[in-house]
Amino acid sequence: MSETLLGEDADLIIRGGRVHIFDDSRSPVEAVAVRDGRIVALGAEAEALDARTIIELDGRTAIPGINDAHLHAAWLGARWPHLFFSDTPPEDQPSGRLVSTAVERRSALQQAWRLLAEHGITSYTEPGIGPGEDDGETGCFGTDMLSTYVELHRAGAQTSRVTMLRLFGTIDGESSLDDFERGIRSPVPVTDAEWLAITGVKIFADGIPPMATAWVHEPYADGTTGALLTRGGDDPLAAFRRMIEIAASRGLQIAVHATGDRSIAEFLRVLERLDDAPAARGPHYVVHGDLATPAQIARMGRIGAGFAVQPLIASHTHAWAGAMLGAERLAGAWPLAEMLSSGALTTITSDSPIATPDWRIGLDASLSLLGAAGTGDDAETRRTLVRAMTVDAARQDGASAWKGSLEVGKVADLTVLDEDPLEPGRAFSAIGIARTIVDGRTVFARS
Ligand SMILES: [Zn+2]
Repeated sequence: MSETLLGEDADLIIRGGRVHIFDDSRSPVEAVAVRDGRIVALGAEAEALDARTIIELDGRTAIPGINDAHLHAAWLGARWPHLFFSDTPPEDQPSGRLVSTAVERRSALQQAWRLLAEHGITSYTEPGIGPGEDDGETGCFGTDMLSTYVELHRAGAQTSRVTMLRLFGTIDGESSLDDFERGIRSPVPVTDAEWLAITGVKIFADGIPPMATAWVHEPYADGTTGALLTRGGDDPLAAFRRMIEIAASRGLQIAVHATGDRSIAEFLRVLERLDDAPAARGPHYVVHGDLATPAQIARMGRIGAGFAVQPLIASHTHAWAGAMLGAERLAGAWPLAEMLSSGALTTITSDSPIATPDWRIGLDASLSLLGAAGTGDDAETRRTLVRAMTVDAARQDGASAWKGSLEVGKVADLTVLDEDPLEPGRAFSAIGIARTIVDGRTVFARS
């Protein structure tokens, strides 16, 4: 791809390939024109403009920038290159305090942003930063990390857009109603929501099926059922319900880590009772949803709520979970096909650094999961999957009005790929990432 300098009408024209804009028409265009970070024209109209910079796609394919709607960037940057599911053996996994100083926190975020740019990721959700982690083991989730985010945000240093959820307990651990009530009253920093949107809260309801800590109706092989992680009030369930009601009453988006069918059922019950008028914010959603039942998925869809799921983690933990769940329940776990066909908002995410931030590998795992449920690898399926990481992720962010698809007036966030990801028969992971553009600016170009 070459860049040349020309005239004035646009800052940038991207042309000479296929551009999937993911509007309702479903047809690709051949060019996009950008001015001041926004898309100003598409197709022939874009090609007719003069621009200071031209990016020639040389037959490549551009798509809306990838949005990983559940990714712990600070933790990823601090741990990189050590992922939980990776070649790093347990004895070489980083442990204890990973970041302690402002310099270390900044470099963790900057490392993550470099990595995300290299992977074509232009937006992500940082799911859980707050005071409950101020004395946390890693240093990656406390209020100091929020301050570092805000500092780099105000310095204009971001190369990816961030949606952030606040956390008033511990990561993957307990939270108390008192801490939640106190925390939620603390002021939210003033930020530009197109770059750092602090939209709501993350609540941990339970653990994960392989550890028998997902809260389930039917007991595991060892006879246990898991339990809620919320504390305070009359009992864990009362505390859980109250947290959701408090957050909703403040107009906040609510994301609940819930893997067991029992946790999901209780979350649904509260959501269905909320008098939660449609707001500018994104919908409430379940994070993980491993053991969601078809009926629960349908109910989530009816109330406009959704799921942020991780098919790659499913493939990493499948056998392990099977030992706890048994073959029959395992067959119904990670119901991606039901989610995607239900109308419930579904985003495909990495949960990195648990799994790799390489979304192409996550989409290959999604294809396998769908294949096991009888869905073939075709252009329609691939469109649904890529939309789950672009259009649908923007919906989860409450940002559909200005990102997620490549329409006139929306931000110029694009991922340029060597081949068309909608063409069946080829692994997503075999498709090279050539360039990443955020706000009309190239933040990564493969040399
Ligand atoms: Zn997570």
